[in-house]
Amino acid sequence: MPGYCINQDVQPNGDREIHHEDCSELPPRYDRLYLGDFSCHNGALREAEKYFPQCKGCPLCARDYRTNR
Ligand SMILES: [Zn+2]
Repeated sequence: MPGYCINQDVQPNGDREIHHEDCSELPPRYDRLYLGDFSCHNGALREAEKYFPQCKGCPLCARDYRTNR
């Protein structure tokens, strides 16, 4: 299963982005938090929401998340 990370750097609107580890927009290692291995963005999102109330899938690598939600 692919690994997912969340951006430590908060967006101007308060969102944190969740990325697939293969994403070309993946933040640098010091600026991201590893969430774990999930079969899709939805699993990663549910895990991230335990810690961060405001998070969303990256628009580049989270297309599966947006269609499954
Ligand atoms: Zn991404």
